[in-house]
Amino acid sequence: MEIHFLGSGGGRWVTLTQKLRTGGIRLHAEAKVHLDPGPGAVLSMAQAGLNPLDTDAVFVTHSHPDHYTDSHVMIEAMTRGMRTRRGIFGGSRSVVLGEGDAGPVVTKYHLGKVGETHVITPGGTVSTLSFRVRGLEARHSDPTTVGLSFEFEDGVVAYTSDTEYFQGMSQSYEEARVLIINVIRPASRRIPWHLCTEDVIKILEEVKPELAILNHFGMNMIGVASREAERVQKATGVRTVAAKDFMRVVVNEGIEVESGVR
Ligand SMILES: [Zn+2]
Repeated sequence: MEIHFLGSGGGRWVTLTQKLRTGGIRLHAEAKVHLDPGPGAVLSMAQAGLNPLDTDAVFVTHSHPDHYTDSHVMIEAMTRGMRTRRGIFGGSRSVVLGEGDAGPVVTKYHLGKVGETHVITPGGTVSTLSFRVRGLEARHSDPTTVGLSFEFEDGVVAYTSDTEYFQGMSQSYEEARVLIINVIRPASRRIPWHLCTEDVIKILEEVKPELAILNHFGMNMIGVASREAERVQKATGVRTVAAKDFMRVVVNEGIEVESGVR
């Protein structure tokens, strides 16, 4: 299995300035999955030499632009230019159906061309693919936000999505070989609805994945993300790296991290 980071950035200001990319994450295993295709996903794929037509599933964890803006483009790729009804689209309730003033963020026209559409809820699963995907609880300003756990042959990859720390959250990640954690702020500089490095340390004191990847950095993480990852590793004993734009992680018997830019 391979994990490609098409962006290590997140939040409004990094997205607006593109100081870090915001194209989401590709999981290439039994099937090829695009996770949270934010602004620039398709551009970053072209620059990374990845073919968007090689997409079997698109998952969007909540209705914020740094997670969904390239969804339509990825659906058009997945459906081979809207000519073939194929692929899976999974999204939070806000993404697919709309919830209050959040979403929906994907058009009916696009969902009409997808093979199957799933509303992902915490604890809900999608098993029509060659692997199982499970929705995980998250606490974010979009109340229907979900984390995701992908059960591949090479092991489980869990993704927190945007969330703040809450009691019991770590249980969701117990099976994960690789845990991708969206941490927008360093140290204990916590803001509502998001994780900071201190929260990550709490999580990794409770669960021990083989590799933790810090991801989705806001302005305050620029230039210090690798140092924060080192600090987390020292405090918890869990191998921890900071995501980089175009970073690739290869997971088989072992886990190799190939550095990208920055
Ligand atoms: Zn975000």
